[in-house]
Amino acid sequence: MQALRAAIAEVEVTASQLDPGRAQQGALWAAVGSHVLDTASALGEAPAYVAAGLDDATAFAIDDAPADIAEALTTIKAVENVGINQTSGGHFAFIPGGGLFPAALGDLLAAIGNRYAGVQYAAPAAAQMERSLVRWMAGLVGYPSTAGGDLTSGASVANLEGIVTARDAGAIGSADVPRTVVYLTSETHHCIEKALRICGMAECVVRRVKIDEGRRMRPESLEALVKGDVAAGLNPWLVVGTAGTIDAGAVDPLAAIADIADAHGLWLQVDAAYGGFFILTEHGRQVLAGIERSRSVVMDPHKGLFLPFGSGALIVREERQLAEAHRYSASYLSDAREEGGGFSASDLSLELSRPFRGPRLWLPLKLFGLAPFRAALEEKLLLARYFHARLSELPGWVLGPPPDLSVVTYRYVPKNGDADDFNRRLLHAVAADGRAIISSTEIDGAYTLRLAVLHYRSHLDHVDDLLGVLTREASRLEAA
Ligand SMILES: *Cc1c(COP(=O)(O)O)cnc(C)c1O
Repeated sequence: MQALRAAIAEVEVTASQLDPGRAQQGALWAAVGSHVLDTASALGEAPAYVAAGLDDATAFAIDDAPADIAEALTTIKAVENVGINQTSGGHFAFIPGGGLFPAALGDLLAAIGNRYAGVQYAAPAAAQMERSLVRWMAGLVGYPSTAGGDLTSGASVANLEGIVTARDAGAIGSADVPRTVVYLTSETHHCIEKALRICGMAECVVRRVKIDEGRRMRPESLEALVKGDVAAGLNPWLVVGTAGTIDAGAVDPLAAIADIADAHGLWLQVDAAYGGFFILTEHGRQVLAGIERSRSVVMDPHKGLFLPFGSGALIVREERQLAEAHRYSASYLSDAREEGGGFSASDLSLELSRPFRGPRLWLPLKLFGLAPFRAALEEKLLLARYFHARLSELPGWVLGPPPDLSVVTYRYVPKNGDADDFNRRLLHAVAADGRAIISSTEIDGAYTLRLAVLHYRSHLDHVDDLLGVLTREASRLEAA
């Protein structure tokens, strides 16, 4: 026993290094604090895109010896300085990320307390915070009080959980899959098909509903397909409507889709990952009308609420159905289960252990209040309209439809030469300039440029700068 105690005492000395005392914590805090404040102000002004990689392959090597914080922060800085600058107001590519400062503080606070919010019993107040955020979102959508949901890492996981819920609510077993039908469009995000594959439904029938000139689902095409499938003895099961497609920012006509879903017993899931929070604006409420009639909705706070990556949400009209698809019990969790109480997050989720996601969302909403979020979303809608209107007036530019939300598609048609190639060079010229970054897509076979306005730092000056760069570079390429 003595020898064992001595051995324990010996390792305890080194193991205790994992728990620095107040003085050492203070030194770390001061170093990280000044790094954070420098970075938060400098990065906003830094180029929107830096192409260089990190050339030191050993930068992340770890070994037995400790390093000091200054050295570690040098490496962190190198990470922060290359690639797409997610903190730049000139970020108009893909769907821009956010990164509100208080959200980062929320993550820090969540990690310091490290409450486990997955089970009510383990952290009742933390669970309550997350539950009330879910309720707030359910209220935005217009769902009844039977609704519930899950705060996830993003929309891919949220869509998967929604599809699993729809599958179990429809009592679809593996033998039923080949006659089960899903309705999507060419614009549906690929994570939907990925989710179908992951949940064992790869062999279901996938119909691509036709889209209109605004790249929205055509309800009459959906109805014709559903009727045909019923006549053929198939089981129409799920329709995914998108509120803000990734390519063109189009919003499917949700009310008309809901009519068809109701008439034929289809589960309507709305993928509002990008567009959902525009419901905070008057225009958004109009465009998203009908969303309240869906069975489930996916929204990404790391898009429309400008949070750092890692925040999605699934909201289901009937919380009970979400629980039926995800609840599990295990003997080692028996102390954590309380009969009769509400569901815990882990009853409604793929995850058991999970980060406490509440504070990153709650702190910015609490500190800023809703008004600046509403104004920022309104600003993004107006900036996209402004960009569309300005470019339409200029010779050579061909614009996609006026934006439903805050994505605009466009391309330049040069007098001579290949237009696809020209626009590809134009995109690279914008990246080389560095003030803004845009991305591209293919629309009806044509290489097309996109503007996605969703960064909280994107204001009129950034859009004017981009218009300047685009017109200057287009003339330069045209003259070359
Ligand atoms: C971003 C997005 C997704 C994927 O979401 P992640 O949060 O990246 O997993 C799915 N659907 C739509 C419409 C999106 O905009």
